[in-house]
Amino acid sequence: MSTQTTIDRDELFIGGEWTPARGSSRITAIAASTEEQVGSVPDGTPDDIDAAAAAARAAFEDPTGWSSWAVEDRAQALERLASALEARGQETARRVSLQNGMPISIAMETEAVFPAALARYYAGLIRASALEETRDGLLGGTIQVLSKPVGVVGAIVPWNFPQCLAMFKLGPALAAGCTVVMKPSPETVLDSLLLADAVAEAELPPGVVNLVPGGRELGAYLVEHPQIDKVAFTGSSASGRLVATRCGELLRPVTLELGGKSAAIVLDDADLGGAVEALFAATLLNNGQMCALSTRVLAPRSRYDDVVGVLAGLAGGLQIGDSLEPATQIGPVASARQRERVEGYIEKGLAQGARVVVGGGRPAERDRGWFVEPTVFADVDNSYTIAREEIFGPVLCVIPYDGVDEAVALANDSEFGLGGSIWTSDPERGERVAKRVQTGSIGINHYTLDPVAPFGGVKASGIGRELGPEGLAAYLQQQSIYREPSPDVEAA
Ligand code: NAD
Repeated sequence: MSTQTTIDRDELFIGGEWTPARGSSRITAIAASTEEQVGSVPDGTPDDIDAAAAAARAAFEDPTGWSSWAVEDRAQALERLASALEARGQETARRVSLQNGMPISIAMETEAVFPAALARYYAGLIRASALEETRDGLLGGTIQVLSKPVGVVGAIVPWNFPQCLAMFKLGPALAAGCTVVMKPSPETVLDSLLLADAVAEAELPPGVVNLVPGGRELGAYLVEHPQIDKVAFTGSSASGRLVATRCGELLRPVTLELGGKSAAIVLDDADLGGAVEALFAATLLNNGQMCALSTRVLAPRSRYDDVVGVLAGLAGGLQIGDSLEPATQIGPVASARQRERVEGYIEKGLAQGARVVVGGGRPAERDRGWFVEPTVFADVDNSYTIAREEIFGPVLCVIPYDGVDEAVALANDSEFGLGGSIWTSDPERGERVAKRVQTGSIGINHYTLDPVAPFGGVKASGIGRELGPEGLAAYLQQQSIYREPSPDVEAA
């Protein structure tokens, strides 16, 4: 029996208003735990994107508008947005959990609070940023160097942490003075309605933020739209390549946050038994649906069975359940398609000779919802498909190594380079190893993103960084104004 009232909306948030959708087709929101319909929104069309891009362009070009506001006024608007997001934090977490299967306890710690924290962080950062400086020219005269907003941003986000990832882009873009057309993923649309309501409550000028949900074709339309000055994309490496190709042709700046297959290097002095919670967060958080998780666990051969045992105990002991239940640690994956994909990888792992130590199937007691048991594979070679490709589900591979040099070589033997972790009782030693791993971020005995630290990938994990001052820099571009030497100086 359904316990859910459905959330249905007929309008799109464009130009600061809820406006009737221009098309008639709809996106249906499905609860990952029950497969029930829980809401629907209009499926955005190219006409909607045209209207959103025109509104964002008009807001950006307005000579007294958002991009020309005093920094303090923009910072205060971001703080109002933060308050409006905080007021909706719990409901945002609930809607994300409902749709994509994220355990509600995790959604409360991330989706409920991180977006507002980011809006406040970027408000503070833009206040403290020098957006204009004067340099003495080497050849005489002075040069004013201005940091100006890059323009109208096309922002595309996936479904796994939809509101955090939306604010990774909105926070710095708004702080910089850009305007935004955002395309939420079709798997998570109900939470984006709350974001739009928060933007309206914060009284951002019309057109500064526009939201048009839709699928990949709509995303592609947004990427190449003539009114877009910069693209900010988070998604799979396969999609990222297509986005990068189009942006390359258009010479359009693009930031790409893509997939990962990161390594947890367990050193021979690690006390894994005392780090189970941190290990869970670094390897299986959000049902394995996080780009930076350490899903390849590299274990010293001398302690291989021990490491496999700890991971099997961890994965086998997790509470599987409806994502909205407070005790749930592992919910369903986000969609039927995603479960098929994860199960396909489990089959490939078995076919190539890996051994399932725990999990490998669907939980017997769940006949609805897209559940997959947390699964640990032992006897994995780094050349196996399950060690090379991103699975994006609760599946770990344990790979043996002999000596730290081999561990580092295995960690780096990957198409990707996004996250990673080192497990050791000697953090100094951990740091030495961490520095040798080719990756955008890495944790020692834990892995947690922080607003102040740049986040992004190397190799096929992406181009550019989000978060921190580096994330702000991606939305600013410089203009130099040369001023001739003053006649007094020349005469002297
Ligand atoms: P996806 O690439 O299929 O879709 C991501 C978003 O891009 C969606 O909104 C989708 O509609 C849109 N899209 C897809 N193809 C497009 C195209 N050609 N042009 C424009 N837009 C397009 O990815 P997904 O399955 O929704 O998300 C999971 C992937 O996202 C994983 O690979 C994961 O690692 C990655 N991810 C990366 C980060 C990061 O910061 N590096 C964070 C979260 C997720």
